[in-house]
Amino acid sequence: MAVLASNASQSTALPPLQGERTGKPSFASVDFDLAPFIVIWEVTRACDLRCVHCRAEAIPLRHPLELSFKEGCTLIDQIRAFGHPLFVLTGGDPLKRPDIFDLIRYGDEVGLRVALTPSGTQLMTPNVIQRFKDAGLSRLAVSLDGSCAEIHDTFRKVDGSFAWTVASIREARRIGLPVQINTTVCKHNLKDVRAIAELLGTLDIALWSVFFLVPTGRGLRGDIVSAREHEDVFHLLYDLSKTMPYDIKTTAAQHYRRVVVQRRRQDLADLVAQGKSPEEAARIVQENAVPKIAKAAGYEPGGWSTGETAADKGTPPPVQGSAEELRAKIARMKAGGAPAFVVQKIEAQLHALEGKAADGSAPIEFLTRQDTARADAAMDIGRSAKGVNDGNGFVFIDHIGLVYPSGFLPFVVGDVRKASLVDIYRESPIMKELRAYPKLKGKCGWCDFRDVCGGSRSRSYGITGDYLASEPYCSYYPPKPKA
Ligand code: SF4
Repeated sequence: MAVLASNASQSTALPPLQGERTGKPSFASVDFDLAPFIVIWEVTRACDLRCVHCRAEAIPLRHPLELSFKEGCTLIDQIRAFGHPLFVLTGGDPLKRPDIFDLIRYGDEVGLRVALTPSGTQLMTPNVIQRFKDAGLSRLAVSLDGSCAEIHDTFRKVDGSFAWTVASIREARRIGLPVQINTTVCKHNLKDVRAIAELLGTLDIALWSVFFLVPTGRGLRGDIVSAREHEDVFHLLYDLSKTMPYDIKTTAAQHYRRVVVQRRRQDLADLVAQGKSPEEAARIVQENAVPKIAKAAGYEPGGWSTGETAADKGTPPPVQGSAEELRAKIARMKAGGAPAFVVQKIEAQLHALEGKAADGSAPIEFLTRQDTARADAAMDIGRSAKGVNDGNGFVFIDHIGLVYPSGFLPFVVGDVRKASLVDIYRESPIMKELRAYPKLKGKCGWCDFRDVCGGSRSRSYGITGDYLASEPYCSYYPPKPKA
């Protein structure tokens, strides 16, 4: 089965494989011009559900031109040639493909972390979930759009979906399979977001990925929550992130990252006002940024748990000791050959203790400079320094092999039956343009949070027809630079 080497050698000259030592993706180690952080392959569009917001406009039967198993393995080899991006098999319902277990197994064999997003249907039996695990699945990602059957099943348009979904989550956790929950926030469930969060707190999940509706597929513009409501949910998510026993991230809502930076800056200000030094305040804010569950053994933000130590898994360990002790620790880690991204996390903690930006390049003058957003963002060791966006750290392959910047931006940028995914991702003019943030128009173009946010390119396109237009559902108005 291992055709990786031969295929990789056919591709454009590749940089050293990302995360080669550990097999784990890391924001810090990925250059988005060269490789995506996450690759999603829609293995089929067939699905038994008829969800109101379905991006794929899923259909009951499989398409005759779906990528075959052999073509799928070739695609997986090309994905592996990027290094170790997160690899997600989605649908439709991936369970509609009888070879789904073999595809998981192949992805695992070539060294990818494979996640799967099955639909919440009766097909998700305990036996199937066990087969996922046996095939090498790293994470089960399940959609839950309501805290009760009434809301979720209305969303999914199939009675019983809520019960099947919750049963699947419990079964996966019972056998030790990490679970991620995907929730799409729209007008149907806006008032239910807190209740969903509380339900998830009882289900032992690793990550809550909160999607915000993009008007594509069956997702309607009229179902999108307002800019103000986006903002309110972001603040709620930030508050929940401090207490819930799982990590929280957003999808198609890059401006949540702006809110995280703003709220952390406010937290710093509050701590300083209470008498803490800026350095002590930074240490406390950083510690609070680590999900509670990460402080117990066996979990890393993002949930890619393989049983290594916390430091090995990408979790920023809580700052312990003085700057001198941290310097000694960094020297020991370097001498011991620790992966660069792990060392960088400790270095970022050291720089924060010293009142510098995470790369050590510039001092952070807490609470006094207007332009500290990027430096503050760099303090967010795990995530904010680099934002994934459509075509920028993200690529999507549909069921017949067409390539898109994401599943929400309907621009075909290539065809894996005709060209290498590596070449398409790196060389497509549209993909390059999506990664060129200085080209963004309107307020996103001059925003002081542009590099950590950039707005949802797919929502901008869905609303305005221009994927470089400013995010239409952001209520932040950045100060305009003087001409
Ligand atoms: S204006 Fe654009 S770049 Fe700035 S926070 Fe809003 S969406 Fe993000």
